[in-house]
Amino acid sequence: MIPFVDLKEQYISIKDEIDTAVLKVLESTQYVLGEDVTNLEVEFAEYCDAEYGIAVNTGTSALHLALLAAGIGVGDEVITVPFTFIATVAAISYTGASPVFVDIDPVSYTIDVTQIEKAITERTKAIIPVHLYGQPADMEPILEIARRYGLVVIEDAAQAHRAEYQGQRVGSIGDLGCFSFYPGKNLGAYGEGGIVVTNNPEYASTIQMLRDWGQASRYHHILRGYNYRMDSIQGAILRVKLRYLDAWTEARRSHAARYDQLLADSKVLTPTVMPYSHHVYHIYAIRTSKRERLQQILSQQRIQTGIHYPVPVHLQPAYADLGYQRGDFPQAEAAAQEVLSLPMFAELTQSYKCRLQWLSLQQSAIKRRKKLT
Ligand SMILES: *Cc1c(COP(=O)(O)O)cnc(C)c1O
Repeated sequence: MIPFVDLKEQYISIKDEIDTAVLKVLESTQYVLGEDVTNLEVEFAEYCDAEYGIAVNTGTSALHLALLAAGIGVGDEVITVPFTFIATVAAISYTGASPVFVDIDPVSYTIDVTQIEKAITERTKAIIPVHLYGQPADMEPILEIARRYGLVVIEDAAQAHRAEYQGQRVGSIGDLGCFSFYPGKNLGAYGEGGIVVTNNPEYASTIQMLRDWGQASRYHHILRGYNYRMDSIQGAILRVKLRYLDAWTEARRSHAARYDQLLADSKVLTPTVMPYSHHVYHIYAIRTSKRERLQQILSQQRIQTGIHYPVPVHLQPAYADLGYQRGDFPQAEAAAQEVLSLPMFAELTQSYKCRLQWLSLQQSAIKRRKKLT
């Protein structure tokens, strides 16, 4: 079978380094935050061309604290898209603010920048563009609108480590950038993890306090904070893996180019890379009106696929109280009906070849056994 994602192959390829790093943490008895987490913060911020990095326990916490640091709370409105993973919207509601949706552009699947202004009210405080599938949102017009209305821009870069917009790494383009290190993300921990990057020292120190019970120093609580600290083991693992991220990203991009080639003459729509973007293909989503049938055929060929995402957030029962209805965001709704994600991970071709080799070995072994009996 060709799996949708295979995390095993990657672990095997760096097993010695990972095992050594993990054992070192176990022996250090420093299990939460600590040196590896601090070093990860410095290294990952630098990787994003940002001044500060603040590691947290999940990507969702990263978004939550970025919003809080920007002063967002009850009575405020935050603009984002309905075609995203639920966490983007959940983080907004954690603060007490109201999510306000803007439809997506049907080509890039990111926020339709021409529709942002009409969603702005006197209560609007921030915009969260989502770099969906690993392709940056169109940041220049977003920043221009934000400047004009005095809004904070928080990038949801959970799917876009190392992606670039007009040559600039995502995360450091807006006021704050949030990443997830969930195992299946382009840079994944062996557990949960996330980080906020920013160039603003005040945001950085607020988030640093908020993730650790609002403490300025031990047992001196300046703010009402959270237990959103990163585990030392995840910090150590992520530091090892960060060194491979360039190579893994290139592998994803070459698999995507191969898919593009193979599907060029087919009826399915392949992803469009926008002229401003360096796409990192967290997800390679094709588009077809015959999705169910295609998914079935692929499944019969033992090729796993996924759907990201089948129900846009404005139609989720959990957010029914926002008052949106079917038809409110036609592009998000259409995409939700038609997108299909093909297998995508750095080791894709290697593991496929391994499996083929393994199958042919098995077959020849069976033949040999038959001859013997
Ligand atoms: C994964 C993801 C998140 C949340 O990250 P977690 O680490 O799972 O909390 C937020 N936004 C998007 C777009 C994501 O894909």
